Amino acid sequence: MTGIEKLYDLSSTDRAIEHCSASIREIDLALNDNDILLQNQDNLAKASTILQTQETRRTDSELLFESTKTKGDKIEKDLYGGSISNPRELEDMQKELGMIRVQQQRCEDSLLKTLQSVEKTKHVVEKLETAISKIKFRKLKEDKVLIQKKKTLENSSIQLQEYRSKLSTSINSQHLSLYEALNKSRISDPVVKIDRGMCQGCRISLPTGLVHSTRTSKTPVQCPSCSRILVSS
Ligand SMILES: [Zn+2]
Repeated sequence: MTGIEKLYDLSSTDRAIEHCSASIREIDLALNDNDILLQNQDNLAKASTILQTQETRRTDSELLFESTKTKGDKIEKDLYGGSISNPRELEDMQKELGMIRVQQQRCEDSLLKTLQSVEKTKHVVEKLETAISKIKFRKLKEDKVLIQKKKTLENSSIQLQEYRSKLSTSINSQHLSLYEALNKSRISDPVVKIDRGMCQGCRISLPTGLVHSTRTSKTPVQCPSCSRILVSS
């Protein structure tokens, strides 16, 4: 391998290391992403609170209905029991019974509505609980795959870094300094091949003499436009 080819190899190795790091970062983000689960858990907490309130209301409605009914039944029993014969009193009791039965009907309607609401909310709670279980199960499976991928990437990264450090010791120190300087600058891919007379970094057409010198020169030839080190293809 010529000195320039080694620089090209070094650049490719650095890009591969960067690629590994970027993929590891993406995996870490995915591993920590619990947005959907948290959203569903939040919805479940809200639905459970609503259900609790509705259950309390149901108990209250049931008690009110029962007490109204008992009250009505007692008046009815007294009214038709034959123990009271005063017509005025009987008339008053009749009126009171009528009012209580109306009240009882209202209680029953309200209880029915509450029961319907309870059933609806219970259904929502069950659906959310099922969804959460499914999300947790799926995440567990996905995480297992991601953790395995991450391990593979970490191993590749270690191997690439070992290769890089061996490679860099075999490169001319001046050439290496130039490469490192370009690598630290904003230039991505500091060593590029020439494709049909063009710098593959910035796509500018290179002078023929310069293209020729990349084949013969022992020192790195840089693109006059983007400063990348050029490698003849
Ligand atoms: Zn260029």
